Formats: sequence, structure tokens, C-alpha cells
Amino acid sequence: MGVRTDFIWMDGALVPWDQANVHVLTHTLHYGVGVFEGIRAYECTDGTSAVFRLNEHIDRLLGSAKVMGIKVPYTLEQLADACIETLKANKMTAGYIRPLIFIGSGEAMGVNPGPNPIRVAIAVWPWGAYLGAEALEKGIRICTSSYTRHHVNVMMTKAKVVGNYVNSVLAKTEALADGYDEALLLDPTGYVAEGSGENVFIVRKGVIKTPPLTSILAGITRDSLIILAKELGYDVVEQLFTRDEVYMADEAFFSGTAAELTPIRELDRRVIGEGHAGPVAKALQAAFFKVVKGENPAYAGWLRRF
Ligand code: PMP
Repeated sequence: MGVRTDFIWMDGALVPWDQANVHVLTHTLHYGVGVFEGIRAYECTDGTSAVFRLNEHIDRLLGSAKVMGIKVPYTLEQLADACIETLKANKMTAGYIRPLIFIGSGEAMGVNPGPNPIRVAIAVWPWGAYLGAEALEKGIRICTSSYTRHHVNVMMTKAKVVGNYVNSVLAKTEALADGYDEALLLDPTGYVAEGSGENVFIVRKGVIKTPPLTSILAGITRDSLIILAKELGYDVVEQLFTRDEVYMADEAFFSGTAAELTPIRELDRRVIGEGHAGPVAKALQAAFFKVVKGENPAYAGWLRRF
């Protein structure tokens, strides 16, 4: 099984994987109020390992908790250290890190989380290319989802909340059932928003475009790619666009911790550009992987070595 390791960090201590369990009356299980992160650790070229933008991820986690009114009993530093401790305990040199802050059980079962305890778990597991190794090179086929991304006053879209992902699961499973690799969700006004777990970019006539931070998650990979793209000399604009602009784009790609930079070769059966990873996607992908592997000293600050 892909996610079975030796230890999971729970409420301040490492516990054996089999014992990282919760009660069936765990509040989050019923109402979806929990917040989480997805973080990656990479093996660097010099033989060490590093977590990519760990503090930024934990900062977003604490921001998500704040939005949801969850008082977290740990500091950013404690949670970041706990991620490293969990990787080391499992002898992992690379992989995915999943911190989850959730509302426990035993005190109240109404919609109001009330006095139930705030609990924190950190699991790690090996995870290769999220959309398949081939996808990183050849690109994926996606469809416009029949599900709309959240309205900013229906869900808190800047927070990575457990319950927000019901929308993602609906979109992802629909896309897979229809024979696509991933879904592209539009926002409630009809503009392109993001994937079920990725931000989206298009390239047209040399300009890189990505939706502004309205209804989408403020992706840390998105932010990293914008910085790297500007450094490579590309024009990057954060601007709303429609699905037909994607059809007409020279290139399109997804970004995310799990998806890294995955080119999109087809949307709704329209081939995008040449139908494979384009030159901008390739250049950005190469720059991104150089950074995460510790090959670009200018971005050493984005890596927490361990
Ligand atoms: N949008 C959604 C809905 C996501 O779940 C993710 C993955 N966290 C992203 C975008 C990309 O964010 P990041 O680059 O920080 O992983």
C-alpha cells in the first residue's frame, strides 16, 4: 500500500502508523471543518534532501486555520520541525507531507465545533508524479468540469479546508469517468479558475497568463513559477480568461505541489498548441526542478535541508 509508513506525528508525538486513529465521532469527519497542506520533499543533487518552501506551506496552513476559527496549539516553527521529524522517523529522503489540523471528538456533535479538541496529524508517504511520469513530459487531456468552483462567499477559497475538496472530488471523478486525466473548473461567473488540485496557466504569443487570486487557492507552486518565469524574461499577467482562450492558447499547464508543472495537451477534445509540452512549459519545468533539487543557489532560501 502506497501510504503505509512506520510513523505518523499526532498531537505532539510520533505514533506507529497503525495507531494513528480517531474516534468515529470526530467532528471533522461529519462536517468537514479541518485544514490541511500538501508539501513535497526532494532529493537534492548534492545527496542531501530538502523540503520545498516548508515555512510558506505551514504559514498557509495556519492562515487556513485562522479563517476557519481553529486555534492551533502549535507554532509555525513547531509544525515545520514536526514535518522534518516525521520524514526522518520514516527514513524518507523524498516524498509528500500531509499536515492535517482537525476538530476531534468527545464534547459536542452539533454544527458548532464547540469545545472539541483541536488535533494535528502529520503523515508522509512516497509520491511520484501525481498525474503520471509520462504526463510531466507529454501533457494531459482535460475537460471543462460540469461542476463550478466555489463562490468566494460560499466557501473560503483561500483556505485549504477539508470540506472544500468535495467539489474537487466531484470534478476529478467525473473527469476520470469520462476518460480525461483531470478537470478544469470555471468560477461562478464562468471564467477559468483552476484544476481539482492545481492552478492553471496559459501561454499565448509569448505572454504567460494565470487567473488572479479570486476564487482560487493561492498556490505556492503558482507563486514559484511566476517568480521563475519573470526571471527567465517572460511577461506574466494575472488576469481572468475564458475557456475559449485556453482552446486558442499556444500552451497550457497546471501547477501544484503534487502535479508540479504538468503540461495540458488537450482541453475538451481541442488540441492545445502542438499537442505536447511547449517551449515555455519545458523551460519553466526545468527551472523549477533545478530549484527543488538544490541546483540553483539563488533559491536556497526556498529549501529546508534535512
Ligand atoms: N488549487 C487547489 C484547489 C489545490 O488543491 C492545490 C494543491 N494544494 C493547488 C491549487 C496548488 O497549490 P500548491 O502549488 O500550493 O500545491
